[in-house]
Amino acid sequence: MSGGWANTSCLFTDGVDQIFDYGNVANGPLIPLPRKSRNDGRALAGTSPEYITLLRPTGPSCIVSASHPKPRIVEIPMTELEQLQETIIACTKCPRLVPYREEVARTKRRMYMDWDYWGKPLPAYGDHQARLLLVGLAPAAHGGNRTGRMFTGDRSGDWVYGTLYKFGFSSSPDSQRRDDGLVLYDTFITAALRCAPPANKPLKEERLECLPYLIRELELMDTVRVVVALGKIAFDTYLTTFAPRGLALPKPLPKFGHLVTYALDGGVTLIGSYHPSQQNTQTGRLTHEMFDAVFAKAKELLDQPVAIKADSN
Ligand code: SF4
Repeated sequence: MSGGWANTSCLFTDGVDQIFDYGNVANGPLIPLPRKSRNDGRALAGTSPEYITLLRPTGPSCIVSASHPKPRIVEIPMTELEQLQETIIACTKCPRLVPYREEVARTKRRMYMDWDYWGKPLPAYGDHQARLLLVGLAPAAHGGNRTGRMFTGDRSGDWVYGTLYKFGFSSSPDSQRRDDGLVLYDTFITAALRCAPPANKPLKEERLECLPYLIRELELMDTVRVVVALGKIAFDTYLTTFAPRGLALPKPLPKFGHLVTYALDGGVTLIGSYHPSQQNTQTGRLTHEMFDAVFAKAKELLDQPVAIKADSN
C-alpha cells in the first residue's frame, strides 16, 4: 500500500446525503457530489450503513467510515477493467506515437506552459457499469494528452460534456482538468486510439495495434446498451470489435452517418455521430441541434424497458 491519505485524492461521505471529494491535500476544498455517483473508476463498490468503499483506477483506494472524521486508505484489489487501464497507460507499442506524444508534452503549447502534460496513453473514463458508451477517435495533442482525461481541455470536450450534462449524463458541462470532480452518470468514454496522433490522423497499423484494448473493454463491460460512435473511424473501429468478440454483424454492414441507428448483435444499439471536431463544428457540419439529437436518441433508447426473453423450457 502506498502513501498516507493526506496526499491522496479520496472521496468521503458526511454520512447523510453527500459525498465529498477531499482533493489532493488534507485541507483541500470539499466538492459535494451526488451520493450515488460514480466517478473516473472511483465507483461506489459497497454502501453498507457504516462504510462506503471507493475504488480508483490508479493509486490506493479508500474505505470511508461515515462516523470517522478522516478517510482511511486501504488496499483494494483492482478490477480487471481497472488493471486494463493501468496497462494502457503504460503502453509503448506504437513507434511513431510514443515519441510524438512525449515530444508534445515536453515542448507544450505556449498558453499551457505551466501545465505538467500527461503525455501518456489515455485511460477510458466514467462509470464502469455504464449503459451508455461513447467511442471517440483519439486524444488531442494539447487536450487529452495534456490533461490526462478523455475529451478534457479542448473544444471537442466542451461539446461532449456540455451535451452529456444537458441530457443528465454528466455532473458538469465543463471539463478542463482530470481532478475537477466531474462525474459521469451511466456513461463511459473510450476511444479507438489512446495516444494523440500527429494531425489527428492515426495510421491503420496504429489503429490495429490499439484495437485489443477496446475489444477487452467491451468484453468487460456487459452493461453497455447504447454506443455513440463519434466520427467514422470510431464507428468502423467499433464494428471491427464484433468478430473478435464472437458477435455477428448484419449484411450489408452498418454504414456511418449522422444519427444512423443500428440494433446489433449482443443487444447493443449503435448510433453514429459526426465528431465534434472544430473542423465540423466551425463549418456548421455539426450543429448543437444535431449533436443534441444523438443524445436525445441515446436517452430515449436507454429509457425503454428491456425486453426479457421468455424461458423456452
Ligand atoms: S496508440 Fe494504443 S497501442 Fe499505440 S502506443 Fe498508444 S496505447 Fe499503445
